[in-house]
Amino acid sequence: MTASHEASKGQRGHLRAALFGFCPRCGARSLWDAPAGFAPVCPACGLAFADYEPRGRGLYFVLLPLTALLITGALKLDDLARPPLWLLLGLSVVVVPGVIMGTLRLIKAALLIARLRAAGVLP
Ligand SMILES: [Zn+2]
Repeated sequence: MTASHEASKGQRGHLRAALFGFCPRCGARSLWDAPAGFAPVCPACGLAFADYEPRGRGLYFVLLPLTALLITGALKLDDLARPPLWLLLGLSVVVVPGVIMGTLRLIKAALLIARLRAAGVLP
């Protein structure tokens, strides 16, 4: 195995751990404090997640196309299957927050790992 293969494998492990809420440094389940918000610090190792949390308008570049995609999907589903309105609204209530939270978590976890590496906190 090459060093870059090992590094990419480690990176995926860190990303998966962060995605599911484990601290990338010590492995304690402490990362997420809100559905898509970091806890201020890891209570186990003291890593200040808040210092590395991506915030602000940059996330709009992900959320706006995602919202457009979800609206287009709902309109296509309505066009093709003609589901009853209650089903379409019920699906929207479940699917839209799930997709948005999942995407936000994935992006924030990836950015956290990248920032921790750039700061030298993670190898
Ligand atoms: Zn920790």
